[in-house]
Amino acid sequence: SHVLICGGTGCTSSGSQQIIRVLKNELKNHKLQDEVAVVKTGCHGLCEEGPIMVVYPEAIFYSRVRPEDIPEIVSEHLLKGRPVERLVYHDAEIPEGIRSINETAFYKKQHRVALRNCGVINPEEIDEYIGTGGYEALGKVLTGMSPDEVIQTILDSGLRGRGGAGFPTGLKWKFASGNRGNVQKYVCCNADEGDPGAFMDRSVLEGDPHVVIEAMTIAGYAIGASQGYIYVRAEYPIAVERLKIAINQAREYGLLGKDIFGSGFDFDLDLRLGAGAFVCGEETALMTSIEGNRGEPRPRPPFPAVKGLFGCPTILNNVETWANIPQIILNGPKWFASMGTEKSKGTKVFALGGKINNTGLVEIPMGTTLRTVIEEIGGGIPNGKRFKAAQTGGPSGGCIPAEHFDIPIDYDNLISIGSMMGSGGLIVMDEDTCMVDIAKFFLQFTVDESCGKCTPCRVGTKRLLEILEKITSGKGTPEDIDKMEELCYYIKDNALCGLGQTAPNPVLSTLRYFRDEYMAHVVDKK
Ligand code: SF4
Repeated sequence: SHVLICGGTGCTSSGSQQIIRVLKNELKNHKLQDEVAVVKTGCHGLCEEGPIMVVYPEAIFYSRVRPEDIPEIVSEHLLKGRPVERLVYHDAEIPEGIRSINETAFYKKQHRVALRNCGVINPEEIDEYIGTGGYEALGKVLTGMSPDEVIQTILDSGLRGRGGAGFPTGLKWKFASGNRGNVQKYVCCNADEGDPGAFMDRSVLEGDPHVVIEAMTIAGYAIGASQGYIYVRAEYPIAVERLKIAINQAREYGLLGKDIFGSGFDFDLDLRLGAGAFVCGEETALMTSIEGNRGEPRPRPPFPAVKGLFGCPTILNNVETWANIPQIILNGPKWFASMGTEKSKGTKVFALGGKINNTGLVEIPMGTTLRTVIEEIGGGIPNGKRFKAAQTGGPSGGCIPAEHFDIPIDYDNLISIGSMMGSGGLIVMDEDTCMVDIAKFFLQFTVDESCGKCTPCRVGTKRLLEILEKITSGKGTPEDIDKMEELCYYIKDNALCGLGQTAPNPVLSTLRYFRDEYMAHVVDKK
């Protein structure tokens, strides 16, 4: 048998490393160390219930395991084959008895494509990735597909960028594909995930780093690039470490470097660490930072596909987008396009947080309703409170109020109600949450993170925050609310980059649905 223990950041912070140490000792005490393999995996998603342990061959899912539980798990389960019932994860759907984890409400409606290996394999062993079909897509591409066929496959799949904007990935690749072999080009991965409450990309990197390496190599072949960079935030030490291990292993196996698979194609990858500036998640700032300069955005056009890193054609996709690529190549574009809605294909990973029972990471087909995500997968709102709104897209996004609880989640639907998909942070608020405070929290964040290059953002967001503070301290007037709204549109229209252009969204969207709460602040206190 073997035992999987979650080594993602969530379970690591709830004590999974200690569980691993105690378990290994206990196995030694029972002379089981050669019979039971202990595998440290990436995130299982159900972070709320960590530390998580899964015991095979029965696939028994233990939650909230403590070091003092280990002797019983070893003596009862591993030695006598009797699972420790009190530690088995149960939910409303399965209140008692032992059944497959896939039958629980949290996992039942999920569909894992980008997260397929997270919590399943040891991310520090390339053989485990290869054992689940890893690097087969790269082999297929290098031995049987032309670069144009690869791009057409991605185009046909309908995959859109998972970083938030939703631009068609295949189109981006196509724009960068001209003049192959004659000019230097680059492939970049945006792993500078910075939205408060978002940890989708971190979990993919921690749980399945090779998928990003394989996907970027495929893209290098498709557009004719020989070098890639993964720009990852230094605040993700586990992800950085696993990426380093994965890159070295891929080089040792000849899957990065010269003449990959004997195809004559050369491609290598390097890491660049971000120093914690939110604006460096903006594509032009990210590339400026890789070049060794202060991470400030620059005007577009020219777009990176034409003139990107070091002035060369560059494609930049985020981690989750990359994580979909090998599966699209292996299963075909029709398979991918069969999931999701008409204009939003595939699945989307969300980090569930805030007032929700199952805090964690979920992957759902596009078009799943917010109700399903919150009531079924998320296990509802704690303490019997009522749902008020969900915030998507972090400081760039907006809120989805209860009246849109049944809206199918996809790019276009969210924009139509004044929110946005964003990269996948989904923060749930209950009836006790003050929506003006929420808007202020996000605005404070963008004020802190504005790079200061352009005036509408540098000065405009500060003035906006001042008005909001005046309102929340009870000194505001109804005219202040109108002035604030006008300023929001001015900033949106005039800021240089996405950070400033979207900074007013949390204010605008809470004004749209909860104007009465703003009015209560200015009227009540007078
Ligand atoms: Fe910098 Fe804000 Fe202007 Fe973007 S919008 S360039 S973050 S000041």
